[in-house]
Amino acid sequence: MTTTAFFRGRFVPIDEAKISVRTHAFNYGTACFGGIRAYWNDEEEQLYVFRIRDHYARFLRSARLLLMNLPYSVDDLARITVELLQREGFREDTYVRPLAYKADEIIGVRLHNLKDEFTVFAQPFGRYLEKEEGANVCVSSWRRVDDNAIPARGKVVGAYVNSALAKTEAQLNGFDEAIVLTDDGHVSEGSAENLFMVKGGHLVTPPVTDNILEGITRATVIELATRELGIPVVERSIDRSELYTADELFFCGTGVQIAAIVSVDRRAVGSGQIGPFASRLRDLFFNVVRGRVPQYRSWCTPIYPKTAENTKQAEKMPAAP
Ligand code: PMP
Repeated sequence: MTTTAFFRGRFVPIDEAKISVRTHAFNYGTACFGGIRAYWNDEEEQLYVFRIRDHYARFLRSARLLLMNLPYSVDDLARITVELLQREGFREDTYVRPLAYKADEIIGVRLHNLKDEFTVFAQPFGRYLEKEEGANVCVSSWRRVDDNAIPARGKVVGAYVNSALAKTEAQLNGFDEAIVLTDDGHVSEGSAENLFMVKGGHLVTPPVTDNILEGITRATVIELATRELGIPVVERSIDRSELYTADELFFCGTGVQIAAIVSVDRRAVGSGQIGPFASRLRDLFFNVVRGRVPQYRSWCTPIYPKTAENTKQAEKMPAAP
């Protein structure tokens, strides 16, 4: 259970972290956010935050798009988050939600000459998508927000109405998730996750210029696929009809982690079951995020002080691939 938030420059009980209905961000969606996971490692009795600095670097880029001036660096934000998690003391997988928002209590839509605030809270978190091993998805009738409307590379609060429209349409029609196309009809991403396609032994994913969020998990998948699994990755636009003929498709993102797509618009993808590539990648991914692969340990920030006992336990673990 969440007990604490960092709010208006200090740690407060979560019930005190409240904003007015007059807040600019509440009225106009003028806020940006992040979504970061921390993974519990049972052998080491340690909580590891995954790629915290990369998440906060993107967070500050989103803030910049909204003309925000936050008094915090990436290191400051990471330190605040580590302290928040130490105070919470979670011993399970956790989700961290930082937000930067236009805090003035005024009427008038704009970005400039407004006060910016930062807040962050955390909560225990399991799966975001129930069917991570096999999601049935549709192509949404909603199009992805365009860079010249609301830039998708910024994690802008107001823009998530676009995601919500797509997700709800998909679920009300009996699907687990939606794939959203760009205005010119190319595959962009899921409602809150990036997309990869396996075709002819290659991994293909839309480029950052196809109105995607530049996902940290996407970058992780690209690195693990090329370096650890020896699979070439191509960043290029994907046509809708390629979804129907792909060998494998999967989503990736902080929430969804790595989730296999087993059908699109009721057409089976490949064998209609999680494919060999998504399967191998998922196994490797979960070892990496829990701090079990030494060469990727620098992506994992430990929250609790190391004890002699948990270090000994970790050393007994078999080496990860
Ligand atoms: N696309 C969208 C629209 C998202 O909301 C997310 C989740 N942050 C992602 C992709 C995946 O990004 P990441 O891997 O950085 O969580």
